[in-house]
Amino acid sequence: MSTSKFLPFTRPTIDEATIAAVGEVLRSGWITSGPKVREFEAQLSALFGGRPVRAMSSATGAMEVALAMLNVGPGDEVITTPLSWVATANVVLRAGARPVFVDCDARTRNIDLGLIEAAITPRTRALLPVDLAGLPVDRDRLYALAGAHRLRVIEDAAQSMGANWGGRAIGSIGDLVSISFHANKNITSTEGGCLVLNDADEARSCELWRLQGAARSGDSWDGMDVTLAGGKHNLTDVAACIGLGQLPQLAAFTARRRELARRYFARFDRTLGCELPPEDFAHCNWHMFQVLLPEAAVRSVFISRMREAGIGVGVHYPAMHLFTLFRKLGYQPGDFPQAERIGRSTVSLPMFPAMADGDVERVLAALGPALHDAIAAGAAGAARSKRA
Ligand SMILES: *Cc1c(COP(=O)(O)O)cnc(C)c1O
Repeated sequence: MSTSKFLPFTRPTIDEATIAAVGEVLRSGWITSGPKVREFEAQLSALFGGRPVRAMSSATGAMEVALAMLNVGPGDEVITTPLSWVATANVVLRAGARPVFVDCDARTRNIDLGLIEAAITPRTRALLPVDLAGLPVDRDRLYALAGAHRLRVIEDAAQSMGANWGGRAIGSIGDLVSISFHANKNITSTEGGCLVLNDADEARSCELWRLQGAARSGDSWDGMDVTLAGGKHNLTDVAACIGLGQLPQLAAFTARRRELARRYFARFDRTLGCELPPEDFAHCNWHMFQVLLPEAAVRSVFISRMREAGIGVGVHYPAMHLFTLFRKLGYQPGDFPQAERIGRSTVSLPMFPAMADGDVERVLAALGPALHDAIAAGAAGAARSKRA
């Protein structure tokens, strides 16, 4: 058992000024959506090239609103990746539509753009790609495809804050872009998210879907009308205030994540048989540092051994078409070999801006022995099943 403090796979960094600012908001008498939300939206919009941005209580809510705005419903299909947080496909089901999975690219671990065309049908309404670990899907190819087939795109850019395509921030380009400020993401508002939109009409529609479809005629609710059954997805000023405290640190957070990733690459023992992520220092924000264990290793043993060494390891994500919910749609093992292989073997190593350089060495020192035990467990299991 290690004597040093447990190293989680991620941890938010909240400075004292932000903590003090939360106190001020709480004392101000206005704690739900108000001036802080408007300021947060304005700063996000400035970061995204002046595009309209609306703050949401979560990225899940942002994607639900985006699907509602596009009128996606029963009979419609939305093409997405099986390798994501389950929110990505759940929102499609909740809209009454069908998530159509396409396998991943073995190298990027993102949706394989070369397989999308074959999945498009007359019922396809939108593409819903994910930038796994903050490595952007190729936006040039993505939008060429969408344009050729007249499809809308909802970017699940939950993990992409601080990432870029061609030097332009993710969020400043493309169609509808959903970003998360969940506690584990690159900047946080505890829970929260935003939707980036194309124009003022879309922003208006987003506001209606965000909060009960309620429209005011002027400054008061006198003369209010409701035109659609909107949800309840607004962000609070308390949360927005935390987001405002995080935004000025985004560049430094991203730079630190890149340094840590470089350190992992420089010191990783390549003879262990692990598959490292693409070495991308142009676009990726290094939301996670994920390696694939050799097929012979038992992942649960690896995770336990790392935990015993004082190191947290995450799994992001099991291939989601194999969950009961999606098997009910007819998906089964073998449908998406790359997603299944990655989903079985992926581990997220500690990666967050407050990590010390020495923490990388600590992770890598524990990783070899843990992997050794995980492979031994795999061999023992194989011998047992051979005897049986
Ligand atoms: C975190 C995440 C979400 C959901 O974001 P919330 O703000 O928690 O709703 C969706 N998709 C991906 C890829 C995520 O990582």
